[in-house]
Amino acid sequence: MNGPVLVINSGSSSIKYQLIDADGGEAIASGLVERIGEPDGVIGHRYRGADSEHRGPIADHAEGLRLAFAMFAEAGMDLASAGIAAVGHRVVHGGEVFYRPTRITADVVAEISRLSALAPLHNPANVVGIESAMRVFPDVPHVAVFDTAFFHTLPAEARTYAIDAAVAAAHGVRRYGFHGTSHEYVSGRVAEVLGRDNAELNQIVLHLGNGASASAIAGGRAMDTSMGLTPLEGLVMGTRSGDIDPGIVMHLRRSADLDVDAIDDLLNRGSGLKGLCGVNDFRELRRLIDGGDGAARLAYDVYIHRLRKYIGAYLVTLGRVDTIAFTAGVGENAVEVRADALAGLEALGIEIDLDRNAAKDRAARVISTDSSRVTVLVVPTNEELAIARAARRFAPDGEGDGPQR
Ligand code: ADP
Repeated sequence: MNGPVLVINSGSSSIKYQLIDADGGEAIASGLVERIGEPDGVIGHRYRGADSEHRGPIADHAEGLRLAFAMFAEAGMDLASAGIAAVGHRVVHGGEVFYRPTRITADVVAEISRLSALAPLHNPANVVGIESAMRVFPDVPHVAVFDTAFFHTLPAEARTYAIDAAVAAAHGVRRYGFHGTSHEYVSGRVAEVLGRDNAELNQIVLHLGNGASASAIAGGRAMDTSMGLTPLEGLVMGTRSGDIDPGIVMHLRRSADLDVDAIDDLLNRGSGLKGLCGVNDFRELRRLIDGGDGAARLAYDVYIHRLRKYIGAYLVTLGRVDTIAFTAGVGENAVEVRADALAGLEALGIEIDLDRNAAKDRAARVISTDSSRVTVLVVPTNEELAIARAARRFAPDGEGDGPQR
C-alpha cells in the first residue's frame, strides 16, 4: 500500500494543500496559505479535525510551504517520515500539449511556463508552487494534473471559434475548457452512484462554484463545455461575466478609455453577480433578495437565465440526456438554484422532487422524481481526491500512466 499523497493548488498569492489517503479518500490534513508576499500572511491548518493558525509575513511560496509543513510537525505529524508517495499539483492550463496527468520534469515545468501566455494569472503561480514543493520534497514523484485535460477530446466543431483560422492557429485560440478534473470526477461518480456503465450515459454536469462551468459528456467523452480559451466564457459567475458580446470589449476600450488590463479586471473580478449587485456569495445574495433588493433579484434572474440556456443547448447537443448533475459550492448547497434551473421542464422529461432537492444531505444523491426520464443528482465534487489518485499512479509501486505525451 502507498503512503498519502500531498495535493497542492497554488495561486498567485495563496496555496491550498491537502494530505490525502488516496485509498480511503480521507483528507488527513488540509490548509490554506494566504497573502503570500504581504506583511499580514496567514495559514489556516487542519489536522485530524483540529484547527491551528499561523500569522506573520510569508515572503514567498517556498516559505509558505515550509511554514505549513512546520504546522504539520507542531500538530504531531512529521511529514518527512509520513511516507508521502507523490505530490499532485493542480495546473490550470495544459494547452494542446498536456492532456493527462504528467510526471513533472524540468522540461515539463518549462512547457507549463510557456503556456502562461494562455493563462497569465494561473500558470506562473502553478510553476512557483511546483518548484517550491520540488525543493522541499526532492525524492518523490511530482505530478501535474491539468484543468483542461478532460476537454482535450472536444469535437472540432465544439472547440473551434469562428474567427480567422490563421490568427487562431498562430495564437492558440481555441476552446480548452476548465474545471475538467471536477467534470470528469463528478461524471464518474454519477455512473457509480446509479450503478450504471459510464460508457452508456449521456450527461450534463453543472459545476457551480465561484467559477462556474457546464459540460456535455457522452459515454465519458466531453462533447462541449462552457469555458473557452480562458475561464471567463460561459455561465454567469461570482465575479466573472461569462458570455458577453465581444463588441463590448471594443466599445469599452473606445468609449470608457479602459486599457486591456482594466477591461480584464472588470470582466474577471468586477462582473458576474458581484458586478450586478455587489455580492458574489450566494448566501449573501439570498439575504439581499429576501430583503427586497431589486439589483440582487435581477442578478439572480440573469444567473438562472444563462444556466438554463446552457442546459437547453446541451440537451440538443447530446440529443438524449440521461443525467444532470449539480456540483461545487453553489450546485451542492443552493436548493433554489437547482429548482429554478430545471423548473417547468417536465415536457423534456425533467422532474425535480422538491422534497429530495431540499433534503440536507452531504452525500451524492438523486433529486429527481422516480418517474423523471432524466435523473437529476447532487454530487459533491472532490478535485483534490481526483488529483491525489492521478498522482499516486506515479508512486514507485503505482501503476504508472504510460507515455505522457
Ligand atoms: P471555488 O472553488 O470556485 O472558489 P466553491 O465551489 O467553493 O468555489 O463555491 C463557493 C461558492 O459556493 C460561494 O461563493 C457561495 O456562493 C456558494 N456557497 C457555499 N456554501 C453555500 C451555501 N450553504 N448555500 C448557498 N451557496 C453556498
